Amino acid sequence: MRRKSHRLYPATLNLADFHLFFKYDKIESVNFKKILGQFNIIGQCRRYGLSIWQCPQFLFLIMGAIIIGAALITYGIGTRYIEDPFLISLIIILLTTILFIISFIITQGFERLAEANRMKSEFISLASHQLRAPLSNLKWAVEFLMSGRLGKIEREQTEYFKILKENSGRMTELISDLLTVSRIEQRSLSFKKQEFSLEDLIKDLILEFKPFIQSSNIELEFKTEKNLPKVFADPSQIRLAVENLLDNASRYIKDKGKVEVKIAKKRGNLYFEVRDSGIGIPNEDKKYIFQKFFRSGNVSKHQTQGSGLGLYISKAIIEKSGGKIGFSSQEGVGSTFWFTLPFK
Ligand code: ADP
Repeated sequence: MRRKSHRLYPATLNLADFHLFFKYDKIESVNFKKILGQFNIIGQCRRYGLSIWQCPQFLFLIMGAIIIGAALITYGIGTRYIEDPFLISLIIILLTTILFIISFIITQGFERLAEANRMKSEFISLASHQLRAPLSNLKWAVEFLMSGRLGKIEREQTEYFKILKENSGRMTELISDLLTVSRIEQRSLSFKKQEFSLEDLIKDLILEFKPFIQSSNIELEFKTEKNLPKVFADPSQIRLAVENLLDNASRYIKDKGKVEVKIAKKRGNLYFEVRDSGIGIPNEDKKYIFQKFFRSGNVSKHQTQGSGLGLYISKAIIEKSGGKIGFSSQEGVGSTFWFTLPFK
């Protein structure tokens, strides 16, 4: 039987009813408040997750200003060369009507695209929420079976349970990444900024990575300066960004190699760097590396796991925290990913 949770989205959580959710949304939108809401340009732009310069409603306003400008110029030129005021008015009316229709069609197209994009992000968010609960139940059930409390487990069975556990873990991570991506796109990823030590956060993460690193023949080195100031950002989001970079540095090393992590003070910011002696990134792929779902051609031979979302998420987090992120890489030699974060 399908389980339903009504915790997050009352009456809208059922995926099968997803289209109804939007229909309902539309019917409800024909009320006075929503019509007035159309004039709230900043609110509309936020709804679509767009900056004001990309927002259809704002573009329509700009088009309006252009139409008024064009009408005034036509009037100025018309009074100079045409004597009949009726003809001048006719030309102005004709011109403004044509410009108005063109701008209306263009902004309508933009609005439809923005709405489709918003619905896509909302669908990803809804689907991810829906998938999370059954997946954690699956993980819990596998762990319970593996514990042997329901009876002795044969060695061969344990292997299969391990595969199940590993795969449900990977799916949980992917879903969590998809949820983060949809929050980034909807501009609803929350940042609770506070002062914290980046050095402590990295030491913590290195401890977590140690078992994987040791089992993968990787040497890890961490260099830091004395008395580094604290950074001002959301520690859980920065943790996610650093985790992605450390994870990549250790996963994209072929057989054995070295990962060097460094933090230092640099031009009023804290500078983080992770350098690896891995497979590197081909030149032709470098411009796409922070794009959503992008994975470069050389990785599939070495590392089949991966979604291409980690760097997109890390970039959004660092930039939202007021920092910068970048990399340099040479195929077959290694890569260096870095970011900066401001102090308070
Ligand atoms: P994923 O690692 O899950 O594929 P990411 O967004 O973290 O997704 O990385 C995107 C792509 O960038 C990777 O698939 C890989 O092609 C490339 N990449 C990232 N980090 C490294 C690295 N340290 N060395 C080599 N390639 C890398």
